[in-house]
Amino acid sequence: MEKLSAAILGATGMAGQQFMPFLADHPYFDLKALSASERSAGNPYKEVAKWYQETPIPKGFEDICVLTIEGVLERDDIDVVFCALPSGIAEGWEPKFAEKGMTVFSDAGCFREESDIPVIIPEINHPHMKLLSIQTESRGWKGGIVKNPNCTTVAAAMALGPLRKYGIKRVNLSSMQAVSGAGYDGVPSMGILDNIIPYIEGEEEKVEFENLKILGKLDEEKAEVKLHPAIFSASCHRVATLYGHIEALFIELENDVEIEDVKRSLREFSSKPQELELPTAPINPIVLFEDPYRPQTRLDRNVGEPFRCRGMATAVGRVRHDKDKNRIKMIALSHNTVRGAAGNLVLAAELALKDGLI
Ligand code: NAP
Repeated sequence: MEKLSAAILGATGMAGQQFMPFLADHPYFDLKALSASERSAGNPYKEVAKWYQETPIPKGFEDICVLTIEGVLERDDIDVVFCALPSGIAEGWEPKFAEKGMTVFSDAGCFREESDIPVIIPEINHPHMKLLSIQTESRGWKGGIVKNPNCTTVAAAMALGPLRKYGIKRVNLSSMQAVSGAGYDGVPSMGILDNIIPYIEGEEEKVEFENLKILGKLDEEKAEVKLHPAIFSASCHRVATLYGHIEALFIELENDVEIEDVKRSLREFSSKPQELELPTAPINPIVLFEDPYRPQTRLDRNVGEPFRCRGMATAVGRVRHDKDKNRIKMIALSHNTVRGAAGNLVLAAELALKDGLI
């Protein structure tokens, strides 16, 4: 298969650099260009990247000359763009790339609420990817835009996806979110050590809306996603962990369920990325724990097999009834910078390619 050429926008930042380990030596994508702000452009990548990864910069990229965003837009050899720009900057640029014929897979929050822009978790709402071809008509773009959900949305949507068949009526969520979700300089150490911060600006609204969008159904005629009708209520909190957002979920279902059936639905859940054996798809998207002391953030945030897919699975545990047989509660944990960011978008791009949408 001929590889598609890829670029990263915002490649020197904390989110942008996380694409690099996934894209280096990728069987479908050939990473050809890295861009950042005008401050960094024109310099070798290793001199301007604030590299926060445990593994070194992938070979061949240390000395690549960083481009401006415009420099990437002007090229005619790029098919796919992975975007990790601040939202306010991305908003101006992403439509220009889509207009020119490139497909943008974006970490930035802008456009997630727009009805013809998919917010994708490949295992849960792969049919929404069809919005890419709808955008061609609705927007007149030759390419398109696909969004990653907010990192806190992911653990809940992954755990709720397999339970849609029981009829989800109401979800209450309480999150304990790692500091990396706010970026490297996001939360001062004096603010978070020995502490829990009970408010993350804008987070609860995003988590509530995005879960209903991801769990919703695509209406192809109206060219939009019909939101899932559940009532969703989130309370989001920052805690002193580095990586991994862990969430307590309280779920009310239409019908009574046996807890063993719910556990089986979670344990055996598998979807299109697994059927297609996509390179970044974990063998089991959900890893179910029976030990009541698991999942734990530090021990279980990297679940996902094979090794390349570490952090791509969601760890779920403490699945139990909550007083009535139609109410259950559980704990879900997802790696916020892997499945919550770069890893999920690379998987989405693999799926779009296999679906013939890019
Ligand atoms: P960051 O570390 O500050 O990186 C921002 C990147 O954008 C850098 O490459 C920076 O280049 C570039 N940039 C900034 N202003 C620019 C401009 N005017 N023109 C062109 N490039 C510009 O921020 P981040 O934490 O990676 O977050 C970036 C985006 O990803 C945000 O939309 C954020 O919400 C989203 N996100 C972040 C995470 C995370 O783990 N942090 C997770 C999910 C999503 P220079 O190095 O040259 O300044």
